[in-house]
Amino acid sequence: MGIRTVLMRLFSNDSNVIGECRRCGANVEPDTDECPECGSNEVGRYRID
Ligand SMILES: [Zn+2]
Repeated sequence: MGIRTVLMRLFSNDSNVIGECRRCGANVEPDTDECPECGSNEVGRYRID
């Protein structure tokens, strides 16, 4: 686990954040920049309140 991942975890710890690939629509971890399904780096993050 890289330091960046740790930081992202901290930032998203107290909120409900999901990631979604803008290309294929797959749900991805909000702390990742690359879709594991299609390899796109266009990952959007959304907060669920
Ligand atoms: Zn994708």
